[in-house]
Amino acid sequence: MPHLSKDDVHTALAANRDLASRLQKVSACDGHVRVTMAQPAGSNPQAGEIARAGAEATIRRHAAESGLGIETLQVVLVEAEGAAAGASSTGERPTVNQPAGVPLKQASSSKTVTEGSTASGSGLPGIQHVIAVGAGKGGVGKSTVSVNLALALARKGHSVGLLDGDIYGPSAPTLLGLDGMEVQLHQNMLQVFNVHGIKCMTIGKLVEPDKPLIWRGPMAHGAFKQLVEQTAWGELDYLIVDLPPGTGDVPLSMSQMMKLSGAVIVCTPQKVAQDDAVRAIRMFQQLSVDVLGVVENMSYFIGDDGKEYDIFGRGGAEMMAQRMGLPFLGAVPINMALRENSDNGDPSANFEDEKSPIAKAFTKLSQNIENEVALATMRSGRTTLSVS
Ligand code: ADP
Repeated sequence: MPHLSKDDVHTALAANRDLASRLQKVSACDGHVRVTMAQPAGSNPQAGEIARAGAEATIRRHAAESGLGIETLQVVLVEAEGAAAGASSTGERPTVNQPAGVPLKQASSSKTVTEGSTASGSGLPGIQHVIAVGAGKGGVGKSTVSVNLALALARKGHSVGLLDGDIYGPSAPTLLGLDGMEVQLHQNMLQVFNVHGIKCMTIGKLVEPDKPLIWRGPMAHGAFKQLVEQTAWGELDYLIVDLPPGTGDVPLSMSQMMKLSGAVIVCTPQKVAQDDAVRAIRMFQQLSVDVLGVVENMSYFIGDDGKEYDIFGRGGAEMMAQRMGLPFLGAVPINMALRENSDNGDPSANFEDEKSPIAKAFTKLSQNIENEVALATMRSGRTTLSVS
């Protein structure tokens, strides 16, 4: 059965003027549909809930009548100032070619307000939640977790961006298979790569691939700032930022530039990795960034015999999280297919079999992170109202 598409949602709601006027954003991927409806500030919450429930019922009825499948459907109310902004469009078509291998250009203006952007929780126009993914040291799987977390959130129907902020060693071009693609500029804005159901920007496509990237203090700040502010992200539910390993200039720049929903720390089970992770956690806490929790990567290995082997001492990162009073967000096993799919730039393959240990691990991780983000949003007293 074909899946319900974004256009189908627009068609379903177009017939009802109230619902159509509240409609802000639709994302749909493989039947995972998310619809954002506006709740004008100060308007009757009950009327909003009725509209939300009405939209959900209308979409389900349309899908049933048209023979279209829905895997998951989330209809969410978002408090908006004044009237609903109408459906947004993220389908800008870039026209100017910017070849890879040129230095980053200076922005003529740092203004990034895009048409149709809504009030955001992050301080960046149109972006609700920014989640930083950090690690105490390199090689623990921070980028692998960032990419697969982004895909898992997108498969739930969220609109997701991935900012490869590891300006010293960008890995998104390899992990997402961006070979042969070039960055496009449109109206002085970098156009995202739309791949695997997510939007991505990486410095790896803006500088020569084989030159080492030696950014120091202010340069690192400038490069990161340009990546964030000069990218046409459009509307995003989540922007995942893959940070450079360790503690350094980029997390500091980031915390100054935007309001983060929180940071996720990736760690392997070994003691040495934990010590570095604790330093990264303390850094975020000093920057007043909420640490959402810890992910244990390369936690265990599942052999051909189906048995689980605790190669690096499974549970080490979980115990560290406990000691630090932080949530444990989940464990990702060592997996050959995950490594191969990463090297081949095909992370979608990790999700082909929903029952595979890797798909299950990342889906669970994304659920736990969504929950922690919701809690962090409540703690920080932000106004986004989510009813689903
Ligand atoms: P980091 O971003 O922390 O430097 P990467 O995500 O680039 O680390 O991962 C380093 C290497 O380890 C990559 O080759 C990646 O494919 C591999 N890798 C990461 N996590 C796993 C895992 N759970 N199972 C198998 N290989 C993994």
